[in-house]
Amino acid sequence: MAIERTLSIIKPNAVAKDAIGAILSRFEAAGLKIVAARMLHMSKEQASAFYAVHQGKGFFDELVGFMSSGPVMVQVLEGEGAIAKNREIMGATNPAEAAPGTIRADFADSFTENAAHGSDSPENAAVEIQFFFPEGVCERTR
Ligand code: UDP
Repeated sequence: MAIERTLSIIKPNAVAKDAIGAILSRFEAAGLKIVAARMLHMSKEQASAFYAVHQGKGFFDELVGFMSSGPVMVQVLEGEGAIAKNREIMGATNPAEAAPGTIRADFADSFTENAAHGSDSPENAAVEIQFFFPEGVCERTR
């Protein structure tokens, strides 16, 4: 399988419960390397732009309000099949359907406040990485 990069966000509810370390540990334990990271508090405008694909949907305003309600931790994860691997570690979008032991099963508070984001395709990963890290990411040689 190819080495991929994916954009990961630890959402405001998981930051608020001090789960950053626990969540990053799960990525590293699964062989996903952190090649970029930053913490920021998104404005409503930034959150709307990031989730533009969902504009007009019933949950959009709640999602944008939540994502701009507090700081998020954003990172780029690199590894074999990183996009699918990250989504497997996160669990299903609806935490009620997330498998036991996944990030969303363990740290979500609701469908909207589901603790983590992960890119769902190579195309979206490229766009999302550029959104938060226009300066590029680190080379990990070891
Ligand atoms: N979301 C929501 N209600 C829904 C569907 C999605 O609140 O009915 C939120 C949830 O936080 C989700 C985000 O919108 O993570 C983006 O939805 P998407 O379908 O892209 O799921 P994801 O790729 O995050 O699993």
